[in-house]
Amino acid sequence: MKMVEVLESNSKIEPSCPPWYGEFVMKMKDLQQQKRLPHAVLLSLPIETDEVAFIWYLSMSLLCRNSTEGRPCRQCVSCVQMQANTYADFNMVGLEYDESKKKYYKNIKIEQTRELIHDVFITRSYDNLKIAAIYPADRMSIAGANSLLKTLEEPAENALIIIATHNLGKIPVTIRSRCQQWTLRLPCFEEALVWLEKKGLDNEQAVQYLKFSNGNPGLALKLFQINYLELVSEFKKKFSQYLNNQIDVVMLGQFLAAREVELARRLISMVVKAYCFRYCGLNESPANKVAARSALELMTQIESQLMIEENNLDLQLQLIDVLISMKQTIIQSQQSIRSRE
Ligand SMILES: [Zn+2]
Repeated sequence: MKMVEVLESNSKIEPSCPPWYGEFVMKMKDLQQQKRLPHAVLLSLPIETDEVAFIWYLSMSLLCRNSTEGRPCRQCVSCVQMQANTYADFNMVGLEYDESKKKYYKNIKIEQTRELIHDVFITRSYDNLKIAAIYPADRMSIAGANSLLKTLEEPAENALIIIATHNLGKIPVTIRSRCQQWTLRLPCFEEALVWLEKKGLDNEQAVQYLKFSNGNPGLALKLFQINYLELVSEFKKKFSQYLNNQIDVVMLGQFLAAREVELARRLISMVVKAYCFRYCGLNESPANKVAARSALELMTQIESQLMIEENNLDLQLQLIDVLISMKQTIIQSQQSIRSRE
């Protein structure tokens, strides 16, 4: 399960807004009050964030009749129903969970997009704004995008379509040109640090977890909550035992397969980088072209191997494949370094 793909159909969504998106919500609310709200917005979101709760919050704020400075009152009829996830004139589609395969579908199905458009634009329960949201919109099928396009060309009255994506480049130009585009950004390092400290991390932890998450505070908090640091040191220890033939590849594969795919991928890529630097001699000699090339090849190979997971193959077997390739590459690099010495 990718962290950015999470949209569980049965779990309740708690609308929430990180402080760094507050200004954007206020701008949207201003537009609404000036009666200049567009009929469709395209939100370009930072990578590796999960924005379901935020899209709900944004919608709740726009549907609220008593909001102040962009903040929903959380007490009016719309707010109460939005918080209970029962508001009839708001609908959102995303990647559905396939119970039989225990994983998320790769794409948003055409029926989902059609139903969304029908529900929100043909029917109406209240004399208020209607909102339809699609996220992650880059996972719409071509047919889905086409049916959405028709709606964008003939917008319904007093209705808003929110199209949200982490991958703007994958949204068809025809859709992009019919929406008002907004790019949402993560906060600067200092702001992220303050936010994480408010969430209970001490300064050292906050700095460290921001490093793990490439400056993404939401992800940093998630990693902190699952004690990622301990997981990293455990994996590093096991990986070095594996390199020294103290444990076998199946054991290491099991350890990784017990995690979320995205987490396993993160752990592997982190250790790959660390070991490439150490074992391929990049630390000692940055000009070591052969080692650098094999390190790069290894990373590319691992990346593509881990991507195969999305094609319904057994994760543990693939992780084992990756781990075997890693060991081979590391051993070869060491030999090539030694032979030059
Ligand atoms: Zn309200």
